[in-house]
Amino acid sequence: MIDITLPDGSVKKFDAGVTPHDVAMSISEGLARNVISASFNGTTVETKTPLTTSGSLILFTWNDKEGKKAFWHSSSHVLAQALQELYPGIKLTIGPAIDNGFYYDVDFGDHSVSDKDFKTIEDKVLAIAREKHEFTMRSATKAEALAMYAAEENPYKTELITNLEDGTITFCDHATFTDLCRGGHIPNTGIIKAFKIMSVAGAYWRGDEKNKQLTRVYGISFPKQKDLTEYLELLEEAKRRDHRKLGKELELFAFSQKVGQGLPLWLPKGAALRDRLEQFLKKAQKKAGYEQVVTPHIGQKELYVTSGHYAKYGADSFQPIHTPNEGEEFLLKPMNCPHHCEIYNTKPWSYKDLPKRYAEFGTVYRYEQSGELHGLTRVRGFTQDDAHIFCTPDQLDSEFKKVIDLVLYVFSSLGFDNFSAQVSLRDKENREKYIGTDENWEKAENAIINAARDKNLDTVVEYGEAAFYGPKLDFMVKDALGRQWQLGTIQVDYNLPERFDLTYKGSDNELHRPVMIHRAPFGSMERFIAILLENTAGNFPLWLMPEQAIILSLSEKYENYAKKVLDLLENHEIRATVDNRNETIGRKIREAEVQKLPFMLIVGEEEEKNGTISVRRHGDAGKSNQTMTIEAFAALVQEEVDKTLKTFQV
Ligand SMILES: [Zn+2]
Ligand SMILES: [Zn+2]
Repeated sequence: MIDITLPDGSVKKFDAGVTPHDVAMSISEGLARNVISASFNGTTVETKTPLTTSGSLILFTWNDKEGKKAFWHSSSHVLAQALQELYPGIKLTIGPAIDNGFYYDVDFGDHSVSDKDFKTIEDKVLAIAREKHEFTMRSATKAEALAMYAAEENPYKTELITNLEDGTITFCDHATFTDLCRGGHIPNTGIIKAFKIMSVAGAYWRGDEKNKQLTRVYGISFPKQKDLTEYLELLEEAKRRDHRKLGKELELFAFSQKVGQGLPLWLPKGAALRDRLEQFLKKAQKKAGYEQVVTPHIGQKELYVTSGHYAKYGADSFQPIHTPNEGEEFLLKPMNCPHHCEIYNTKPWSYKDLPKRYAEFGTVYRYEQSGELHGLTRVRGFTQDDAHIFCTPDQLDSEFKKVIDLVLYVFSSLGFDNFSAQVSLRDKENREKYIGTDENWEKAENAIINAARDKNLDTVVEYGEAAFYGPKLDFMVKDALGRQWQLGTIQVDYNLPERFDLTYKGSDNELHRPVMIHRAPFGSMERFIAILLENTAGNFPLWLMPEQAIILSLSEKYENYAKKVLDLLENHEIRATVDNRNETIGRKIREAEVQKLPFMLIVGEEEEKNGTISVRRHGDAGKSNQTMTIEAFAALVQEEVDKTLKTFQV
């Protein structure tokens, strides 16, 4: 008998040779039907692998990440089989599961595949799937494996096997198809009920552009047709919410090939939006004791040699700018921290002066390959809502908590509730990778862990994810597609104070090193606005909307009254414009809806006579308008603003 420990801690006895499927059966038939993958003692196994020793077993269904991985990995085998049958002579390379589906990189030789062929391939995959083939793992010697692919004249698989150790090579068989594989399959192909090819793209063998270009076929599969339909709808929604599309429609930002790739141009409405975000944060930061500083966009190369950035990013960054006569070398600023260290160094400080908190909306430049650029999320020039806090080690704990408060305030004011926090600590096995004393590291790590716990953050702890100079806390939010983005970050740093020889005089009259905190609640203005656009689909919180209301006149006759209403709204600090064009009201409303303007204020004869406005909300098609006075409308706007935007409390 062997003992099988389940994730809930319960231990069950079975005969040696029991399979994960049998264990599921012993719990319930329903579970056994849904189990599609398993892991035993941390290693992926097949659902029919006989278990011969005691150990811990985890059973996975489609709802688990591991279950999906097995599902998609197995589907990629079926795709490979279908492609091989449809296009004889093609050479298969690798086909892993990815976050959403899987791909297979194929050398199609004389064949080519385009979207016209997708339907044929999909039908073939589903036909094979319906035959309910089981996946069977078997070991092979290196010589056997090499001989098999030599016969197929497949140099890619041959190269893969050459790099494997004899005795570790396994194959997976299903139907008439065999592939080099490490295992982790669903019970049989029959549970693949929906399958779709998403796209084809070029991909170099092993990601190296010196190698042959292959065709990467992206696919996705599901256990139910309904799941595929929902997934495709989600993708459509994500397309509608794509910040690049919305940025254009709402006239927020643009790119110009003449100005250069990856360098966003902020249009008036986008600039106003940024400015509003900046003012919002500046106001909270002022309350939290930050001081604004301003530093130049370039710095001497030597500055970044001192900071260590040159050694780390120099080669990948922009090249130095040389002055014509003096032989000086400058770099575009990749980070604000070195400049802020030099601001700290302008004066001697005593422990009584600390903490010093320097904040700057600092624009930085980093080289990204043109292929990596993406809207506002991957750019070459961006503005960080940066700040550096210089404090004594004893102040670290409370300073860290204050920064968390500020980050949470920013998130709640902007309606981000779907976020999590990652505590990134040292890799305990590899302490030599990090600089600073053990004592300081422990202090800093404990400060972060305690602060996150005291603030009731939903956190995951990751060992080995700390920066070499200190631990950090990263805030992640999910966008419309369910992708995770890192926004705010708080980092503790012992490195730069050392490199820039920062000191303060302690109560013992000796010089000490301050600790430095880097923090940016937004991360960068560009990325933050991109995520905000995709999260809200352009329906920002009312306090942030570039235009909160538009006054639509029923005809040109009411121009004077419309202007009077505008004046009154301005007195109430409501941002509005007038649309007095000689257009039908229906058309004016439709255009205002596209612009996502929260309120449309319609004025005509009745309204002028009574000194009122007829209020229609964005997206309220079919509902009747509400007639009210300007004062009542101003109160309504204020109430709505107050719901999300609270005053920051220190
Ligand atoms: Zn496999
Ligand atoms: Zn910094």
